[in-house]
Amino acid sequence: MEKAKAICRLVEEKAGRFTAVSDAVWDTPELGFEVERSAAVIIKALEREGFQVEGGLAGIATAFKGTWGENGPVIAFLGEYDALPNLSQAAGVAERQELVPGGDGHGCGHNALGAGALAAAVALRDYIRAKGLPGRVVYFGCPGEEFGCGKAFMARAGCFANLDCAFSWHPQSYTGVWNYGSLAHLSLLFDFKGVAAHASSEPYNGRSALDAAELMNVGANFLREHIPPAARLHYAFHDAGGMAPNVVQDRARLNYYVRAPKIAQTREILERVKKVAAGAAMMTETDWSFSITDGLSDFIPNSVATTVLAEAMNELGPIAYAAADYALAEKFRAAVSEAAYNTVLEQMHSIGGSLAEEYRGKNLMDGILPCSGGAHIFPASTDVGDVSYCVPTAQLMAAVGCLGTALHTWQMTAQGRTSLAHKGLLFAGKSMALAGLKLLERPELLKEAKREWLSATGGKYVCPFPDEVMPEL
Ligand SMILES: [Zn+2]
Repeated sequence: MEKAKAICRLVEEKAGRFTAVSDAVWDTPELGFEVERSAAVIIKALEREGFQVEGGLAGIATAFKGTWGENGPVIAFLGEYDALPNLSQAAGVAERQELVPGGDGHGCGHNALGAGALAAAVALRDYIRAKGLPGRVVYFGCPGEEFGCGKAFMARAGCFANLDCAFSWHPQSYTGVWNYGSLAHLSLLFDFKGVAAHASSEPYNGRSALDAAELMNVGANFLREHIPPAARLHYAFHDAGGMAPNVVQDRARLNYYVRAPKIAQTREILERVKKVAAGAAMMTETDWSFSITDGLSDFIPNSVATTVLAEAMNELGPIAYAAADYALAEKFRAAVSEAAYNTVLEQMHSIGGSLAEEYRGKNLMDGILPCSGGAHIFPASTDVGDVSYCVPTAQLMAAVGCLGTALHTWQMTAQGRTSLAHKGLLFAGKSMALAGLKLLERPELLKEAKREWLSATGGKYVCPFPDEVMPEL
């Protein structure tokens, strides 16, 4: 408990700096890898704290790391700072306003995410420096999470090699440890080439790429029944050949997503989808080709690090809210639909079991969901998955808004620059710093975490996409 108090004090001493970083990043929402101003704010804060900053990781100008310490185990914290397009934003305004054309917004709370990870790195460093403990602290600035697969490129470049443990967190409308996997993802392009012809006067001389694409989708829809239940196939036409019905189309392009609980399963499903494409091409006497355009590995929560992180969260106790926070949450809760609220409660249920019910009806989640884990799989993908294949990794979620707020919405964006977001990011920072400290002080736990990671991954990172795929800078 002494250590929890000390870490708490260290974060609170510099709380104004961390929340100012979050607000500054919120003020200038930027997208993908083009997050220069946001990265600059965090780099400046790291340099002020005496971290050694190296930019341009993996050939991406806005990917960077800040390192402190000479020897001892290496604890890493992952920060994000990219926003979403066309959300627009107005701090503290609960009702959705007129959208500003092209107005980007921090609908996923990554402004708080980057600042919370910064708070963790600085507080852990402050503690070990004051006590003279061995240990190194690294902050990774990771752009391009919403789109771009930033961390997968960084993982491929070896950025996450030689670390002992990595921590991250994600803003949410509830608080708890992230003790479950996420879906791995592959994005694929299938191209069909045929022979153009007049569709009425000489269709028999044509070979339709559009027919091939349609037959491929039919085949994929039948394949669906025979892939693992949690796997997903989605497709979209990127090119249907052309606008004229009286032409036998000689080209067509489909974009497929394959998702599954494990990256190895997506590779198996890909082989079967390729057979469907080959069959469609054979039926139509067209040629086909495919390429992987991007991908994400599934997230493997390291149970040793996750348990330590949950312990840290519980020692720190839930986020303490003031009357003004409850009032703000009530205002935002009125702007959240029942459907959205119930969906969040369902998510909490699948994470924390029936204990989630304790919070039904509340405007703010002022507790911590238990670390139940189990069979739940987050039904989306994150590039933290690729980090988890490189190093034992643990994550938490912390409330940055009223209970029921969905990610990627006006309300999540608008609460990103309020006391709720500030409290969430400071709690996340404290929790991750304390968890890092617990691991530094018990090297046997770090060894156990590494053993578990080795048996789960084989210890070798395989990037989901081929070497020729480069970040879209
Ligand atoms: Zn996010």
